Amino acid sequence: MSVWSLLAREIATVTGEPFAIARQRSVGGGSINAAYRIDGDPAQGSDRVYFIKLGNLAAVDMYAAEAAGLQEMHATHAIRVPQPVCWGTLDSSAYVVMEFIDLGRGRSDSATRLGQHLAAMHRHESDRFGWHRHNTIGSTPQVNSPSHDWIEFYREHRLQFQLRLARRQGYDGGWMQDAERLCDRLPALFSSYQPTASLLHGDLWSGNYGYDPAGQPVIFDPATYYGDRETDMAMTELFGGFPAEFYRAYNQAYPLDSGYELRRPLYKLYHLLNHLNLFGSGYMGQVQRAVAQCLTSI
Ligand code: ADP
Repeated sequence: MSVWSLLAREIATVTGEPFAIARQRSVGGGSINAAYRIDGDPAQGSDRVYFIKLGNLAAVDMYAAEAAGLQEMHATHAIRVPQPVCWGTLDSSAYVVMEFIDLGRGRSDSATRLGQHLAAMHRHESDRFGWHRHNTIGSTPQVNSPSHDWIEFYREHRLQFQLRLARRQGYDGGWMQDAERLCDRLPALFSSYQPTASLLHGDLWSGNYGYDPAGQPVIFDPATYYGDRETDMAMTELFGGFPAEFYRAYNQAYPLDSGYELRRPLYKLYHLLNHLNLFGSGYMGQVQRAVAQCLTSI
């Protein structure tokens, strides 16, 4: 049986409704996985449409964590996220199946709603930073061991973790010593600020949101955990930024602390280090600038 027939059988079992695939089409835009849209065959009683990621067996944990992240965000009803349907392995492939959402450019108030809905999601809090499981950021492991101490969590599981990977890849030099110094001095950036453990998307760059046909914002491809909401906001500003209405609406709904601008380079740094580790030395300049920027304010 082909992987598509096996998938159709799995979807039918999980949903309890017949499902046969009429056609599958590759969906572009992803940076990591092969993604497809599959359309059910109305002649066989199944006109539903799903979005699928397929990868090799090693991707099974990554997909399970992605599905768990989507479920966690979905359960808040604060913002639309694709509802996961099933995930696991079939034959020699790993897969995750989720609701297909026809993503478009949105309406005039969609960016405002994105700000409001993200703020509403960030109001969902945990008593600890981290999560009940580890996941990935891009394809890099992301450790979410729960902690009551945000500074310790961010230092160890975010910065130091990426710095270790960078060293293993041979990156070194003065900037690495500066980054270590930054890790030692982190508390200086939190002297009058106590972050709460907000539910985060975790990888909120402009390629990971869109708008459904009704103009409602949708976020997807998460690296979910509970942490300082400023980290999600810093990520939105990393590659091109989000529309101005998004920031206005977010700040109206859930104002950011006045010290956010001082911590922004710190929170960008995690993602920049991850890009350095995943995609190479083209990110070195931005990494070094972020480290230097953090050090000027402490
Ligand atoms: P990757 O894990 O490879 O980065 P993404 O999750 O970003 O993949 O998905 C790739 C592209 O597919 C996205 O840029 C988006 O346009 C589209 N997409 C993602 N999720 C859905 C969905 N549930 N329904 C429809 N299209 C989706």
